[in-house]
Amino acid sequence: MSTAYYHFNQHFHHDTGDEHPEHAMRIMAIEQALKKSGLWEQLSRVVGDKAHLPDIHRAHSPGYVEQLQLIQPQQGHIYVDEDTPMSTGSLEAAMYSVGACTQALDDLMAGKFNNAFVATRPPGHHAERKRSMGFCFFNNIAITALRAADVHHLQRIAVLDFDAHQGNGTVDILQNDERFLVCSSFQHPFYPYSHYQSNRYGNLVNALLTTGAGSDEFRNSIRESWQEPLRRFAPELILVSAGFDGHQEDPMAELCLTDNDYGWVSHWIDKYAKERNIPWMAALEGGYHLNALGRSVNQFINAMLGNAHR
Ligand SMILES: [Zn+2]
Repeated sequence: MSTAYYHFNQHFHHDTGDEHPEHAMRIMAIEQALKKSGLWEQLSRVVGDKAHLPDIHRAHSPGYVEQLQLIQPQQGHIYVDEDTPMSTGSLEAAMYSVGACTQALDDLMAGKFNNAFVATRPPGHHAERKRSMGFCFFNNIAITALRAADVHHLQRIAVLDFDAHQGNGTVDILQNDERFLVCSSFQHPFYPYSHYQSNRYGNLVNALLTTGAGSDEFRNSIRESWQEPLRRFAPELILVSAGFDGHQEDPMAELCLTDNDYGWVSHWIDKYAKERNIPWMAALEGGYHLNALGRSVNQFINAMLGNAHR
């Protein structure tokens, strides 16, 4: 039993242009950091495969998927919302992003690994049922959650999301479905300003962070907000939207988290999962300062491997 790392080269074909913060160098920075620290050799590395359309259709309407296929450009870029560029290889990359996640799920359910990290791009948690936004086309984690329920017949699946931005797409897709509990930690008020009101959704738990929040506020609010609802829900599987843009060096949000906080949250999840003997996996969402992203994911994966956390 071990930790798996899922990756795929097709993300290179999702070309976001020279000025965009979400680009292929992010995955390269992560892998470089893992190689430098020696963790790369400790991981079971798996090359991800392409998604099956029926998996995507559980979360997104067939019309939405067809529309994306129709508007995908033959060359150059178009923008599907004000900050989400699409190039000729973007949907192919998005299909692999989903496919690597569902493959990780299937392998975890088969008992191959304790936990798994999926190096996805494009990310997914802002993608709503019928709407691309915030660099996202298909909601990798919501699709994985629905597959876990429908194909693997799990009845209680927890989604934890600690990206600096709220996962509006995940809530849009999984809202008020009692098979899922969505626990989120994010800067508030902040982008995307929608689908965040826990009083409107019966299965949403929020840990709200004020602008400038650091380690203590992050750790305390996760413990105080998530712990009890998770205990009551007793998930059979944990899926994590792992965004690293709350780092103090990250330009895309205004939180002050450190590399160590990502090791802490991974250790917190891993301890919970081990005590209950359940599998868990994390898919990459945000994180745009290359150096901080590499170091933070390295700490996160170090704790997934069960190595001591400071
Ligand atoms: Zn984000």
